[in-house]
Amino acid sequence: MDHFLYRDGALFAEDVAISEIAAAVGTPFYVYSTATLLRHFKAFDDALDGMDHLVCYAMKANSNQAVLKTLAQAGAGMDVVSAGEYLRAKAAGVPGDKIVFSGVGKTVSEIRLALEGGIRQFNVESEPEMEVLDAVARSMDKVAPITIRVNPDVDAKTHAKIATGKSENKFGIPIARAREVYRMAAAMPGLEVVGIDVHIGSQLTDLTPFELAYQKVAELTEQLRADGHTIRRLDLGGGLGIPYERSNAAPPLPTDYGAMVQKTLGHLGCEIEIEPGRLIAGNAGLMVSEVIYVKSGEGRDFLIIDGAMNDLIRPAMYDAYHDIVPVVEAEAGAEQQPYDIVGPVCESGDTFAKQRMMPKLVAGDLVAFRSAGAYGAVMASEYNSRALIPEVLVHGDQFAVIRRRPTFDEMINRDTIPEWL
Ligand SMILES: *Cc1c(COP(=O)(O)O)cnc(C)c1O
Repeated sequence: MDHFLYRDGALFAEDVAISEIAAAVGTPFYVYSTATLLRHFKAFDDALDGMDHLVCYAMKANSNQAVLKTLAQAGAGMDVVSAGEYLRAKAAGVPGDKIVFSGVGKTVSEIRLALEGGIRQFNVESEPEMEVLDAVARSMDKVAPITIRVNPDVDAKTHAKIATGKSENKFGIPIARAREVYRMAAAMPGLEVVGIDVHIGSQLTDLTPFELAYQKVAELTEQLRADGHTIRRLDLGGGLGIPYERSNAAPPLPTDYGAMVQKTLGHLGCEIEIEPGRLIAGNAGLMVSEVIYVKSGEGRDFLIIDGAMNDLIRPAMYDAYHDIVPVVEAEAGAEQQPYDIVGPVCESGDTFAKQRMMPKLVAGDLVAFRSAGAYGAVMASEYNSRALIPEVLVHGDQFAVIRRRPTFDEMINRDTIPEWL
């Protein structure tokens, strides 16, 4: 459920008309709904009610400071994967003891930054990382709290580019080697083992792979405890999918997920952490774009819009589907026709949809891409020297630009000319 609904035939974000935002900031732009962000956070928080838990928003999905602050004020922790994200979380007011640091390539300077500023735990992904973390922590007279990310070798049945829990993926250590690696960790004085971490992939639309992975984590917890380790925290990762295509069956809800977690892991008495990204931010955002031209090709009509793959790369990168709707609702029973919906970038990959049934549209009409709040703005680039598009946050009947569009001068002046030119 989101808060982007038609009222009298006009698309709204909460109580603000999309057309009003378009007139104020120009197209294309991203718009996020505060109520939807909070609703999704609360859905997870409530789903884990009854278990000691912390929802750590995976901020790589959408790391705008205003989005982070909205969630931080609601009590969210954060899952970060870089120094930049760590500093963003801190800047949004998240205390170090609610920040977890994930990622396969943490550098010495990133580790230092987090140990200096405070960290809930590092999710360690390899033995070499463990050794570096131990050395850096000792050099600072600190002890780094860690979980070790195990790779449970389950098939998440999601797109290959976002599956992470199979043995061929680069993430975590094979679960079969976990006892040995925990033994090594326990012998390192710079580390304090606090639990286990697992994250098997993104956009999962079925609970079964999660359940298989968590059963393996439950067994491992008991083994590691028998080996003498303190396992008091389980970080279960993110990955629950969202309904990108409204006509498809809806993925499981956070309540179903929470009940499954309770069933598979509740008896262990561990503190539970989860790291949802997409499910919190995805359906809380739209990308709004204007039709520039309608071009009739051989046997097909193209809607050429002012948004492009550099603004929203998911269709080009993951073959992702986004519902695309007109900002002015079509009359009931209005005729539909197929369009190829494309951007202006000089790549055939700059195609958002092929033969998509839409009401008849003309130049100047606005269209909205649903489910664009996660892995949208954060993955944008300035390819073709297109300016990063603005982000807008709605709160009830108010809206604010939370990242403005840069000027072309700003973009050009970011480059420097060597003195020989
Ligand atoms: C990407 C990622 C997440 C978030 O995944 P979503 O599918 O957005 O929920 C959580 N944890 C880790 C370690 C990740 O890499």
